[in-house]
Amino acid sequence: MSGRILIRNARVFDASGADAYPADVLVEGNRIRAVATDLGTIDAIGADVIDGTGHTLMPGMVEGHSHPTFTGVSEPAQLGEIPPEEHLLMTIKNTRVMLDHGFTSLFEAASAKLRLGVVTRNAINAGDFIGPRMRAASPEITTTAGLGDERRVHLYRESFALIADGVDEMRKVARLCMREGVDNLKINVSGDDFVTHAKASITPMSRAEITTAVEVGHEFGKMLVAHSRSAESVKRCVEAGVDCIYHCDQSDAEALDMLERNKHKHFVGPAFGLLYNLMYEHEKIGISKDWLIARGFDKAFDVSCETYHQMRKRGIRVVIGGDYGFAFTPQGQNARDISHFVRFFGYTPNEALQCATRVGADLMGMKSELGQVREGFLADLLLVKGDVLADVTLLADKDKIAMVMTDGRLWKDPRRTIARERLPIAAE
Ligand SMILES: [Zn+2]
Repeated sequence: MSGRILIRNARVFDASGADAYPADVLVEGNRIRAVATDLGTIDAIGADVIDGTGHTLMPGMVEGHSHPTFTGVSEPAQLGEIPPEEHLLMTIKNTRVMLDHGFTSLFEAASAKLRLGVVTRNAINAGDFIGPRMRAASPEITTTAGLGDERRVHLYRESFALIADGVDEMRKVARLCMREGVDNLKINVSGDDFVTHAKASITPMSRAEITTAVEVGHEFGKMLVAHSRSAESVKRCVEAGVDCIYHCDQSDAEALDMLERNKHKHFVGPAFGLLYNLMYEHEKIGISKDWLIARGFDKAFDVSCETYHQMRKRGIRVVIGGDYGFAFTPQGQNARDISHFVRFFGYTPNEALQCATRVGADLMGMKSELGQVREGFLADLLLVKGDVLADVTLLADKDKIAMVMTDGRLWKDPRRTIARERLPIAAE
C-alpha cells in the first residue's frame, strides 16, 4: 500500500450539514489530505485509485450505544454465564461485524464483564487487530432491585451487573472501574419494562448514588452514561451531570426543558432498535402482540416517537445505536436506526446521517478530527453504492457498503474479489 489513496468521482456526503456534492478525496496516511472536484493527475501519482462513480463517499458511522459484548442472548442474565475466554472472542468478532457494516467507531454503552471492552479496545489501539475506534464501558452498575440485579435469595449467583447500594459502595465500584481502565462509566438509573419489579417508570438509583458515580468518573476524566427511561431518572441525571443519557422515553416537559437548557453538556440516545424490533419483528422470536401490549411496549413505542420529535425540535444532540446484540436485535442491524430517525422521529435524511457520524464523533470526544469528510480529518470513510441521501436504508445493507476505511486503512476494498471480511482475523 502506498499510503496514498485517491477516491474519484464519488458524491461526497461530508456530514457538515451541506448537501452531497461531486468530488475526489485524497487520503494520505490516516488523514484526509484533500477534498476537491477533479483532483488532477498529479495528485494521482503514486496513489491507489478507487473509482467512486455511482457511489456516496461519507464518514464512517459511529455506534453511539454499542454492546460488542452482547452475544445474541434472549435475556441479559445469560451474559453472565458465558466464560470470559469465549466471551472475549465473541466480543472481538462483534467489533468486526460492526466494522463490516460501516461502523468505524463504537461508543460502548455497557460491557457484559468488567474487562471485555477494555482489553478489546487496548488490542485495537495496539494494532493487534484491525477494529473500530472504541470507548470502552464498565459493566452496568445498578442497585439492589435495579435493572441488572439478577441475583436470587434462594440461589448463590452473582449478577453480570455490578451492584452498589449507597454512596460508599458506589464510590468503591466506580473506582474499581477506573482502575481497570474503562472510558465510560455506565449506571442503570431507571428500571425497564422487562423487569417485573422495577418498571421503566421506577427510578431505583438515588441522587446521592448518581452524584457519587459522576464525581468519581469525572475526577478520572471519564464519561458517565446512564440507562434512564423515567422522567425522574432523566432529571436526576441532568442535575448530576451525566454526560450521555440513554432512552429518556418518558421525559416530561420539565425533563425536556432541563435537557434543552443544558444541551451543550448532554447527549441522548433512544436505543430505538429494541422497541422497533419488538413491535415489528416479534413473531420471529415467538413473542405475541398480546404479550407486548400487556407489558405496555406499544405505548412505550408511541411515547418514544413523541419524545424524540421533541429532542429533534429542541436541538438536543441525539446519537444512533439501538441496543443491538440481543436475540431479537442482532449485531449488524445497527444502521437501521438511521431510517428509524427519519421515519419515526421526523429527521431529514441529512440530519439523521449527521447523528450517525458528526454527532457520534462529538460523543467520542473527537469532534475536531472525526465524523466528517474534511481536509485534515481522520480517514474513517465509507463508499456506499447509490445515493444514501435519497435512500438511507442502503446503509443497513452490508453488501451496499463497497468500501470501509478505518484510520486510512482499507478494511473492505472495492477492488478485491475476496472481501476482507471473509478472511480470518489478521493484523495488517
Ligand atoms: Zn443498552
